[in-house]
Amino acid sequence: MGTNLNARNRLPEAVVRTIREAIEEKVREELRGIFPSPEAEGPLPAIESFFPSDFDPVAEAKEIGVREVRVARIYGGAPARYCPDTKTIEISPHLDREKIASEIRSRTGVRVKPEEVAIWLLYHEAVHHTRKRHIPPRNGLLSLLSLSDEIEIAEEEREVERIAEDWFYRRWRWRRT
Ligand SMILES: [Zn+2]
Repeated sequence: MGTNLNARNRLPEAVVRTIREAIEEKVREELRGIFPSPEAEGPLPAIESFFPSDFDPVAEAKEIGVREVRVARIYGGAPARYCPDTKTIEISPHLDREKIASEIRSRTGVRVKPEEVAIWLLYHEAVHHTRKRHIPPRNGLLSLLSLSDEIEIAEEEREVERIAEDWFYRRWRWRRT
């Protein structure tokens, strides 16, 4: 009976091939969404184009001790990140400024204008640069963290945001008046 069942359940070769091809195409499609090819996206805009004309992101980062600030495609959809190994801040080319501005406002109460969003992000990542604790990047299954790690990270993020807010006022808003 066992062999009969196997024979009956075996799918025809052509059907198996069709399913396999469909799965492979689906995987390729997913990967294109996660890692869009540079050719498809075109060249990255200059870092200065994300900031108001009277804000120099390169000079500002250097003053804080960050080695480099650049535009880079960021895996996972974060708007910005800091890499402690290279001491580099990366800003995503896909910033939804209106959305990020309203998120900052609901989290902190600070009315960051959409055109100031990159400044806020730069300060946030630059604060990470000055901190001893560096948050591990989210990396799919590899980033399964313990609850105490999660709590520590959340507390660190709150503290980083508090300092970033202070820098935003002192280094940007008040300096201009
Ligand atoms: Zn952060």
